[in-house]
Amino acid sequence: MEEDEDTSRAIPKWVELEYSHMRTLAGPESEVHFTHLSKSSCDTLTSLFTQFAAGEAALGVAHPEGVLELMKARGVSLDKVCLLDPKAEKPLAPEDGDGRFEWFLFGGILGDDPPRDRTGELRGLGFPSRHLGPIQMTTDTALGVTKLVVRNKIPLDKIPYVDHPTIVFNAKESVEMPFRYVVKNGQPILPPGMHEHLYEDLNQSFDF
Ligand code: SAM
Repeated sequence: MEEDEDTSRAIPKWVELEYSHMRTLAGPESEVHFTHLSKSSCDTLTSLFTQFAAGEAALGVAHPEGVLELMKARGVSLDKVCLLDPKAEKPLAPEDGDGRFEWFLFGGILGDDPPRDRTGELRGLGFPSRHLGPIQMTTDTALGVTKLVVRNKIPLDKIPYVDHPTIVFNAKESVEMPFRYVVKNGQPILPPGMHEHLYEDLNQSFDF
């Protein structure tokens, strides 16, 4: 996570929805660790993470420490961690799941439109890296795609995507999302509850 400017601010709803989705997408055989969180974000996420029954989703753990401190504490070496970086030279491949890497690292950062390359901060730490194609994905989509490639062995270019989809709420209201998503049944896969949240958010912006 990037530095929290206001440490008393609650984690925004959309972040909660994305983070919970990351745990579901990773599945019960994985662990998802959220690092470099303020004390209040850590507390919020820790109580949020009690929401899934055991066996339903990945274990979710919130940490105040940064990723390097966590790796040191767990004895994880840099070359076993794959940074998912849109600017990496190599694409992620199914073989990357066969022991080459033990952990996959995602930037817990806002997707700017246009992207501002904030993954560059993690790149600077020297992790080996892989890209998931040229278009920025939401962090939960990036995790889901990583899992499809390294666990389910589906090559990156065989996954069905939609770029910059328009989410339609009704005949008059819609919103365009500036990301690439995985498609299921013709629709982008959003975190459960995100559709409703986007609609509430849209209405609030007109609520003076
Ligand atoms: N706007 C951000 C930037 O400029 O770096 C990207 C934010 S993206 C919402 C959050 C994280 O998802 C990235 O830090 C990266 O780890 C992962 N990600 C998203 N799209 C990706 C892609 N096409 N290739 C590799 N990683 C990606």
